[in-house]
Amino acid sequence: MPFNDLEPVEKQPQPDWILELTEQLPGVIFQLHRAPDGQMHFPYLAGNGTHLTGLDRRDLAHNALPALERLAEEDYPRLMAAIERSARFQSPITTKFRLRRVDDQHSWIALRAQPRKIDTGVLWFGLMIDISEQMAEEQRLRRLSDTDDLTGLANRRKLMQRLDAEISLSNRHTFPLSLMMLDIDHFKSVNDTWGHLQGDQVLKDLAQLCREMLREEDLVARLGGEEFALLLPLTPELHCRQLAERLCERVAVHDFGVGPGRITVSIGIAEHRIGDSCDALIHRADDNLYAAKRGGRNQVMVGV
Ligand code: GH3
Ligand code: MG
Ligand code: MG
Repeated sequence: MPFNDLEPVEKQPQPDWILELTEQLPGVIFQLHRAPDGQMHFPYLAGNGTHLTGLDRRDLAHNALPALERLAEEDYPRLMAAIERSARFQSPITTKFRLRRVDDQHSWIALRAQPRKIDTGVLWFGLMIDISEQMAEEQRLRRLSDTDDLTGLANRRKLMQRLDAEISLSNRHTFPLSLMMLDIDHFKSVNDTWGHLQGDQVLKDLAQLCREMLREEDLVARLGGEEFALLLPLTPELHCRQLAERLCERVAVHDFGVGPGRITVSIGIAEHRIGDSCDALIHRADDNLYAAKRGGRNQVMVGV
C-alpha cells in the first residue's frame, strides 16, 4: 500500500483483503499530492468515511478541488495555510475543519498528515476522522461552564472572557464600550417576605427582562447573588445611560410575581477609557453602583 507513483488508485491492482480492510476503516486514509503549480489531487483515498461528501473518489484522484469546495468557508484559509506550512517546513499537519456533507449538514473532521518531498511536488500520507460527536460534546461542556444555572445567563467566567476581548478591540480601534453593574435593591427582604423560591423567580424574570432590552451583541451576565453585569460593545456612555434608565424604570413597574413596584434596581455605569484594564473598568462601574445605592437606590449613576 501506499503508492509512490502517482497513478490514480483504480489503475493499481489491490488484493481483495486490503480493499475490504480499508473500506471497513471508520475514517479515511489518503495520499494527497500537490504539484509545484499548487494543483492537488488524491492519488489514494479509502475508508468508510469517504461517502460523507458524496464526492466521487475517481474525480478526486485527478483533482482535489471538489473536496476543497466542501470546506466551510471560515476553515478554508486555515487549512490552506496548514498545508502550505507543512509543505514548506516538512512538518506534519494536525488540524480540524468543517466539511459540508451530502445532507448539507457540517461534519467536523480531524486531519493528521505527514508530508514527503518527491520529484513532482509534495506527497502527504494522512488520515481523517469524523469528530463531530466529540466537538458537540465539547461545545456542550463549554456552554455549561460559561452559563449561570439559575438564569441561563452568562456567568462571571464568561463575562471576564468577553470583557478581555472587547477591551482589546476597544484599545486597538478606539471603539466605545460601556459596562453596567446592576444590583437588586433590598433583595434580602424580598427573600424574607416572599421566600427564597420566589426570590429565585425574581432573578429569572429580571434576567429575561434584561435580555429583552439588549441587542444580540451585548452580553448579560449574572455575577452571583442578585448582581448582574451588562456589557455593551460599540456603545458610548450616553447611550448606555439612556438604556440603564429605561431598564431601571421598566423594572420598577414590572410585576415580578410579588406585586408591581416591589422590585427596584440600582445601576452603576462606566465607559471604557483607552488603556483601562478589565479590573479598572469593573471597579469604576462598581463605585458608581455603590454611589447609586448611597443616593437612595432605584437609580442610575455615572459620574465617578
Ligand atoms: P442592597 O439594596 O444594599 O443591595 O440590599 P440587598 O438586601 O439586596 O443586599 P444584601 O447583599 O444584603 O443581600 C443580598 C441577598 O441576596 C442575600 C441573599 O439571601 C440573596 N441571594 C443571593 N443569591 C441568591 C439566590 O440565588 N437566590 C435567592 N433567592 N436569593 C439570593
Ligand atoms: Mg442587593
Ligand atoms: Mg448585592
